[in-house]
Amino acid sequence: MSTQQLPTRDAVPEKLTWDLTTIFKNDAAFEVAFKKVKTQLPTLKTLDRPFESADQLVATIKQILATFRQLEIIYVYASMKNDQDTANTTYQGYQAQVDSLAAEVSAAAAFLDPAILAIPIVQLTTWLSESPALAKYSHFIQTITDSRDHILSGQEEALLAAAGDIFSAASQTFSVLDNSDLQFPEVTDENGQTFQLSDGVYSQLLQSANRSVRQAAFEALYKTYGQFKNTFATTLATEIKGHNYLAQVHHYDSARQAALAPKAIPEAVYTTLVDQVNQHLPLLHRYTELRKKQLNLSELHMFDLYTPLLGKPALTYTYEQAQATAKEALSILGPDYAKQVAHIFDDRLIDVCENQGKRSGAYSGGAYDTNPFILLNWQDDLNNLYTLVHETGHSVHSAFTRQTQDYVYGDYPIFVAEIASTTNENLLTEYLLQTQSDPKIQAYLLNYYLDGFKGTVFRQTQFAEFEHAMHAAAAANGQPLTAEFMSQQYADINSRYYGPAVVNDPQIALEWTRIPHFYMNYYVYQYATGFAAATTLANGISTKQPGALDHYLDYLKAGSSAYPIEIMQQAGVDMTSADYLERAFAVFEERLDQLEALLANLN
Ligand SMILES: [Zn+2]
Repeated sequence: MSTQQLPTRDAVPEKLTWDLTTIFKNDAAFEVAFKKVKTQLPTLKTLDRPFESADQLVATIKQILATFRQLEIIYVYASMKNDQDTANTTYQGYQAQVDSLAAEVSAAAAFLDPAILAIPIVQLTTWLSESPALAKYSHFIQTITDSRDHILSGQEEALLAAAGDIFSAASQTFSVLDNSDLQFPEVTDENGQTFQLSDGVYSQLLQSANRSVRQAAFEALYKTYGQFKNTFATTLATEIKGHNYLAQVHHYDSARQAALAPKAIPEAVYTTLVDQVNQHLPLLHRYTELRKKQLNLSELHMFDLYTPLLGKPALTYTYEQAQATAKEALSILGPDYAKQVAHIFDDRLIDVCENQGKRSGAYSGGAYDTNPFILLNWQDDLNNLYTLVHETGHSVHSAFTRQTQDYVYGDYPIFVAEIASTTNENLLTEYLLQTQSDPKIQAYLLNYYLDGFKGTVFRQTQFAEFEHAMHAAAAANGQPLTAEFMSQQYADINSRYYGPAVVNDPQIALEWTRIPHFYMNYYVYQYATGFAAATTLANGISTKQPGALDHYLDYLKAGSSAYPIEIMQQAGVDMTSADYLERAFAVFEERLDQLEALLANLN
């Protein structure tokens, strides 16, 4: 739909918009709340003094958390008003004002961690055992004191903090080069339409049913990146050296250990993931074989991996039909969950339609004291039904956590966040497979799942393996991370992952040049662990394994009241062991068997 055809914000029917008056009745009420947070800044600064009693520590923590709690509410109001129509200058202004206030509040509260670390351990332990009011914050305090052995002197930390811009220079250079300076050629699609190539256009063209379009896009993209491979090697090598340096000066054994430490994720989670994925690569090889056969190709190239295996199914959903299907698919999660879903669907917690100026994509967002809202840009198709159950998963997770936990533990870390949304996607897949009898639709759904698993569990682990190999090579023997070295390593890992059915196109060796996540310091593995955990959890719930549902609901209520690994253990998934991955691969294998059998009959 072109911009001209989209309705203006005012023209969208009210029942399809989110009701932000439940946050503030009007803009005037927002402005009052904004001023109230701003006036707390001087008070926060007066709290910055050595702690002399448990009561003083409790009072300080409470005051800081209370300010953040109010800040979150005005942040959510400003950003959602801005997202619903980004051309509205009033809300652009609100958003900018709240952003800078948030930076001021964070700076004013920055003394808390060092001040808590300055309390002698014996003293802190005594206070925690003697003061029930302080004990309520014990896990919160522990997440701060965990870093005790890795914090340098105040002066040294200040020197490093002041060099923050310098440490992020490699990633900024990558971003400027990748997003603005790189000039891509034009490419032509099957309809003769010419496009300026970009990363976004590339992923569209790679899904084209026309092979020469895919091949041309692939070759043009890597020709462009290849011209700058030495520059990209320098930015990535500098980023990696920065991670290694900061880990070393903070007394960590490795950059990986340092990156996983803040959420207390054991390195075994990472190594187990990589080991298990490698053991199960034959399943991915079977999938690429099937793709080669189904596409009827004598050679399967890297540019043939994203074109749809099966045409689009005749499955359309209006928004109302999608809500009904989502409710049925999620009903297996019990009455309390269903009640939340009804609240989200029926009480204007979702901003449904596309309109002029609306932010693209979809998300679930909110604050501890607001409803969990969802932004959509609805289209009547299966993908949007999946998006609806995905975001509903985040929203119910937020609602359950906020109803159960105090503010201090009322959020949840990224490591566990995507599990709530992808479990819902998996439950929808189970439901659709049970209710859709047309073999073509069944095949489409099975392949939708397998492609998701391939892109998340296999591909993100491939990235994680490369990322760690580069950090380790640079740290162990000062291996220069040249373009040649990284390309060789990347090509080796890539051919091992996709197996003998795929031709080793030389261009793919350069894929490392264009992955922004390599600048995010050991981030990608969480996509893989999260998807695998969600597959296992959904399988346990749908096959009605004893305790599976209750444990899952406990996880949704746990927030950040414990370390992510402990929370997942309570949900029945031990992410340090291989078991949950083996169960996830078993589901992948079962669905691959089903797809192979279906396609054999359909062809
Ligand atoms: Zn999500």
